[in-house]
Amino acid sequence: MERGVSGSGRFMDTHCHLDFSLFDSCREELLFTARAKGVEAIVVPGVDSERWLRQLSVCRTYSSVYPALGLHPCFIEKHNKNDLLQLEKLLQEDDVVAVGEIGLDFWPSSSLHDSQVEYFESQLELAAEYELPVLLHVRKAHDQVLKRLRRLQLKPGGVVHAFSGSYQQAKQYIELGFCLGVGGALTYERAKRLRKVVASLPLSALVLETDAPDMPLAGLQGMPNRPENLPLVFDVLASLRVESAEELMRGLWDNSVRVLALESHLE
Ligand SMILES: [Zn+2]
Repeated sequence: MERGVSGSGRFMDTHCHLDFSLFDSCREELLFTARAKGVEAIVVPGVDSERWLRQLSVCRTYSSVYPALGLHPCFIEKHNKNDLLQLEKLLQEDDVVAVGEIGLDFWPSSSLHDSQVEYFESQLELAAEYELPVLLHVRKAHDQVLKRLRRLQLKPGGVVHAFSGSYQQAKQYIELGFCLGVGGALTYERAKRLRKVVASLPLSALVLETDAPDMPLAGLQGMPNRPENLPLVFDVLASLRVESAEELMRGLWDNSVRVLALESHLE
């Protein structure tokens, strides 16, 4: 793989589960290493209400680490209606930058689809009410998600995390003001369709993410993913795009700031 300019980068990881207990023993070192590689800002999505307060405290401990809060569709069994009330209360704190990760996961092994829809819709309404962007988790449910986004027309939009849909689906999200999260999946040679989609979309529609500790990069399977790997995703993306590495890097950073409305939060 040809190296890009990742040695001197400025990157934002728009989706990193920095609060997960797996990182408890190494969080300082992990952030230090990520920063040394140019990962200057990190957005930490929420998963379930049990973790929110801990997640907020982790984010408040470090500079340029921004929390999003939400109820993840894959943990649907854990959520209850009180969580939505607590979420609304916490969204009023001004350091919460987005609602997420939220969405629909209709993968064959997933469960409680009706309930997923209910929580997703309630959280979209909260995002609309508090004018916050959303971080979306979508599997096998792009049409169902797009239908609901069209109804609400969120402003600002948000990020479709780990996007792996078609060019047509990507275009529909872009029309609604969304960016597409590009992560480790792109680093696999076999990801031909995804590589083609990502190469052909406008630069203004792309942001970077790791989803650490999940979604390992090619060659790094079997160990927890870390935000310091973000420049490796960037290098693959740069090899697929027509822009210069500098232009691409600047574009990705600007997109992240714009779509997550981070202007006033950045330090
Ligand atoms: Zn995630």
